Amino acid sequence: MGLQFAAARAVSAVSTWGLKHVFHRPAANFPGKIALYADPRVIADLAPRLQKGSVCVVGTNGKTTVTNLLADALETAGQRVVCNRTGANLDSGVATALLHAREADWGVFECDELWLAKILPHLQANYVVLLNLFRDQLDRVGEIDRIQESIAGALATSPKTTLVFNADDPLCAAIAERVGNPTVAFGVDEDLHLPQNTVADAQMCQRCSAMLEYAYRQYGQLGSYCCPACGFARPSLDCAARDVHLGADGLSFAAHGPRGDAEIEAPFSGAYMVYNLLATWAAADLVSVPAEALQRAIDAFDPRNGRLQEFAVAGRRTLLNLAKNPTGFNQNIKIILQDERPKAVAFFVNDKEGDGRDVSWLWDIDFEELAGQSGLRVFAGGIRKNDVQVRLKYAGLDAALVDDAAGMFAQLDGLPADARAYVIANYTALPPVHAELGRLADGGQAAGAPLSPKPSEGLSGSGGVQAAEDDAAPLVIAHLFPDLLNLYGDGGNVKVLERRARERGIPVEVRRVNHGEHVDLAGVDLVFLGGGPDREQRLASEDLMRMRDDLHAYVEDDGVLLAICGGFQILGHEWLLGEEVVKGLGLVDMTTERAPGGSGNRLIGNIALRSPLADQAVVGYENHAGRTHLGTGVEAFGDVASSTGHGNNDSDKRDGVRYKNVVGTYLHGPLLPKNPQVADALLIRALERRARRAGVPAPELAPLDDAVENAANEYVRNRLNAG
Ligand code: GLN
Repeated sequence: MGLQFAAARAVSAVSTWGLKHVFHRPAANFPGKIALYADPRVIADLAPRLQKGSVCVVGTNGKTTVTNLLADALETAGQRVVCNRTGANLDSGVATALLHAREADWGVFECDELWLAKILPHLQANYVVLLNLFRDQLDRVGEIDRIQESIAGALATSPKTTLVFNADDPLCAAIAERVGNPTVAFGVDEDLHLPQNTVADAQMCQRCSAMLEYAYRQYGQLGSYCCPACGFARPSLDCAARDVHLGADGLSFAAHGPRGDAEIEAPFSGAYMVYNLLATWAAADLVSVPAEALQRAIDAFDPRNGRLQEFAVAGRRTLLNLAKNPTGFNQNIKIILQDERPKAVAFFVNDKEGDGRDVSWLWDIDFEELAGQSGLRVFAGGIRKNDVQVRLKYAGLDAALVDDAAGMFAQLDGLPADARAYVIANYTALPPVHAELGRLADGGQAAGAPLSPKPSEGLSGSGGVQAAEDDAAPLVIAHLFPDLLNLYGDGGNVKVLERRARERGIPVEVRRVNHGEHVDLAGVDLVFLGGGPDREQRLASEDLMRMRDDLHAYVEDDGVLLAICGGFQILGHEWLLGEEVVKGLGLVDMTTERAPGGSGNRLIGNIALRSPLADQAVVGYENHAGRTHLGTGVEAFGDVASSTGHGNNDSDKRDGVRYKNVVGTYLHGPLLPKNPQVADALLIRALERRARRAGVPAPELAPLDDAVENAANEYVRNRLNAG
């Protein structure tokens, strides 16, 4: 035993004792952290304790469930297992689990996607199970290609590791294709016929950037895809699920693999659980766990960690689940929709470091699917409850704000006793709600005096209708290339424009113009362009360059155009993609360059602006690598009014651009929901131009009740001390 290693073990043993006995805190990370500090190779030193080897589980969604189930299955099969069961998934969590363990047969470790590169070189695991890659915490981890690179780099340091990957996910398949490791592909080999959501993470071929085609798509980007240009396609499946049955209270499928077949049944609902269980089965098979042992582990699985965990609160069945990104939320909404009875649903969203500070992604979730359900009560909680409330409002859902789960139970008067409650919480919002539900379930009573439900505060508010004429031509909003520029929730801007016009009785038509499609701008009143990752932005810019003359004419004719981040960059003379200088539309005198150090050097964070388009500070979230410089005399959208926040570049303290009726900005959030005055300023200009062209007087915009929007604006403003 090396001296360094002995020291590492000694300090970690003392700290574990201290945490447990003095501070009464679980010791899931800290002992490993200081052991790694004393000996950075501590994982490698401890790995030989695992006599048969180890399995790492990575992926955006499902890691904790798959890790725990696989560990359970191994234990059911009589194996001794070391596992970081509570989801402490950095190198410190893995080191802590190893330090606490005695000799074992297998190690099963949940690993954070970006931390695999710090764990795998030391652990040299036998298997890495790669579940899926979805957008998640873009501010912390960056765009998905960075995660792919990191995982591929980790695998290169451990060439004997077998990669067990989700072949239905083109982002995972692309990693499998580029690494030299042995691979095992798993996937669902039939169309599950699920209703599709609006946003998917990979639309483009991972090899050649053409648009992928799908024989069928399950959810997100998962499905049977192929590239018409270069032949990149879903690899043939080594482990396949067929005969999938999905019900409200359970699922089943037949698993087929190289070493045999099995019938898997589980009391969980949700297509994503089919993938989780299939991945677990594929891994269990590789580590020689018989299918019966896995099935027994599934039957006994008790997710005590708030993943699909059931509670009875005052007799009411309550399901708690984690969701931390659009795909996870969309899957949860599908589960809720399977219950057609009256019900209560609460969403708790925090924006701490572990969640990601940016909550723009709320606008990539299809909450609209819940609208119109009879007997549905909706609640918004967590640090960003105001943002959740605004998002739900524009989905047609009138949510009451709550401080905690008890706040929801206190407002369920009149809801039938057998109606269920659903509580969906993101990463750091989950543990307190989980603990609270545990307390409430034990006591059997929800705390707090019952409150009467809030009166409905639908969008109609106080606004009268002045423009309404049912047979009037609709206001046409062209959303350009939403299939490419869709990473940061920017589509929410269109939802806001649309509803704010409709609430005033103004008919609206939204035209989604996808890649390769054409739109005649002569009939358009408002053009919208969102932000996106570099690869997609490049392709969108080619589409836009084909429209250049039309766009020039439109802008010079006072056409209204709102462009966010990636879309904003394309408005200038040129922008930079890595080393490549890409020609822009030249609609505005500005250029965008990259900061030294490439796309990793990003300007990220909350930001508030003073803009002539609004009386109160304009709030948002920026996340960009490009640095934009305006030509002399060109006006910015606003001046940075917060201490955090950069805007166009590292020094100007100005954001975006205003030129004629063009507004460009780096602000996600998205921009318009929390800045309704900006939304109305754009609508007014679009209506004025339309009226001028028709030779009629412009309609006035009646005021709306913006209390919910303004509360969300005020919350961010206060946090940023932006007055
Ligand atoms: N890909 C561009 C950049 O990084 C735009 C990003 C975005 O739209 N947020 O600068």
